[in-house]
Amino acid sequence: MIIIETGDITHCPDDVIVNAANTSLLGGGGVDGAIHDAAGPKLLQYCQKMAETEGVRCPIGDARITPAFNLPSRHIIHTVGPRHGIDVDSHRLLASAYRNSLIVAKKQGIKNIAFPAISCGVYRYPHDEATEIALRTCAESDRQDLQIRFVLFSADVFEAWQNTARTLELGSCVVVKS
Ligand code: ADP
Repeated sequence: MIIIETGDITHCPDDVIVNAANTSLLGGGGVDGAIHDAAGPKLLQYCQKMAETEGVRCPIGDARITPAFNLPSRHIIHTVGPRHGIDVDSHRLLASAYRNSLIVAKKQGIKNIAFPAISCGVYRYPHDEATEIALRTCAESDRQDLQIRFVLFSADVFEAWQNTARTLELGSCVVVKS
């Protein structure tokens, strides 16, 4: 089941929320900044202790899990989307960011997960392309018992998700909450 709705992901009580992070995992702007602010300073301290190679704690398209500290969710999965027009093979990398987040969730036995619109902010992915990759990748997920929510912060991104969900004809597995 995939649910599409508007909202602030830092308020979501799902088992896990996904952060559109950068490779350092040390916070940034957009949803990353909002998640660090809401989770509190222990999140940054935890991330600083995670394994890194030359400042990279999570390569583009990969995913790492941390506790959620002061957030209502239990965990945060930090993934890194590609920068549109800069990172080579960006479609594959964006699909990997969603797929690897779902793989990490599966390993933890997680029942529900909330995603933001990865790469749709400062990484400037065109919304229609990002939406199709996100929905196709999540719809291919083999877990019938995992509820996936897209929690979209702005009206234009929500509209793109809504339109693409209709166009892709993913059927009853997608519910749009307007
Ligand atoms: P990226 O660097 O991957 O583009 P951004 O954080 O800049 O990540 O933007 C990703 C998406 O997250 C954008 O659509 C932005 O509007 C949205 N966003 C920002 N804050 C929040 C929030 N608190 N909850 C959900 N989505 C958010």
